Amino acid sequence: MARLSLVQVTDHTYYIPSPTNVGIYVDGNSAVLIDSGSDKDAGRQIYRLLNEQGWELKMIVNTHSNADHIGGNAFLQQKTGCAVAATKYEAPFIESPFLEAAFVYGGYPYPELNSKFLVAKPSKVTDVIFSSGPIKGTSLEAVPLPGHFFEMIGIKTPDDIFFLADSLFPEKIIIKYHLFFLYDLEQHLQTLDKLETLEADLYIPGHGELLYSLERLIEINREKVKEIISFLADACRKKLTFDELLAETCLRYNISLNPTQHVLVSSTIRSYLAYLVSNGLVRYYFADGRMIWTDS
Ligand SMILES: [Zn+2]
Repeated sequence: MARLSLVQVTDHTYYIPSPTNVGIYVDGNSAVLIDSGSDKDAGRQIYRLLNEQGWELKMIVNTHSNADHIGGNAFLQQKTGCAVAATKYEAPFIESPFLEAAFVYGGYPYPELNSKFLVAKPSKVTDVIFSSGPIKGTSLEAVPLPGHFFEMIGIKTPDDIFFLADSLFPEKIIIKYHLFFLYDLEQHLQTLDKLETLEADLYIPGHGELLYSLERLIEINREKVKEIISFLADACRKKLTFDELLAETCLRYNISLNPTQHVLVSSTIRSYLAYLVSNGLVRYYFADGRMIWTDS
């Protein structure tokens, strides 16, 4: 990983631009991190940056439990004994990260899935927090942003900076990959609506660049999700098995699979199918040992 550096945003709020952005809220010489980067190397570099400033790491607040947001937890907690805060449904994945691979695969993961992209090093969640309201022991506020993952939160600082976690993906990623990981479509769409009402001076997404306004990016994210909903509903008219639907999706969006991509894309398509069934847009039946997806 390239050498990371610190960017000051306001008097008290900083962030570290990296493949997964890391936020820092500083009060006196005590620092609270918002996520911890994608791996041990990120953790090591964050530790260096905190030491250079003479800041003491008090707590890591994880927005959600994906490996690329909790990757530095174990190193930092071991070095500093810091607290780790997360919501009720994210906490078990942080303490037992193999659950993430088991969840996206839907069974006991085969060896290649035990990679840093899916399975971080375990760390101890010392504070299970509510997804809404003040985060105890800090001056930060949690805002529920479910959808991308079970109980993801955004974080608002007292100086009006809003950390968006993975509720909005950057335009570049959407243009390149189209399909981004989603767990609950219904909640994700509600979260996008809610983001339209959230006021802040500056927004920092989990991935990509700082934003002064969200309007355009919300629309791009929403349109892509709606496009995929129609694409899948349309594809189901051909009466396809799940694997055939996956293949159609990969062909349509030029996705090349590897073990990690395969489980992430498959899990997301399953979530889309659940949304489509719940909204009466597709249905399924079983025939000759196959589950067939069809139009309603
Ligand atoms: Zn994520």
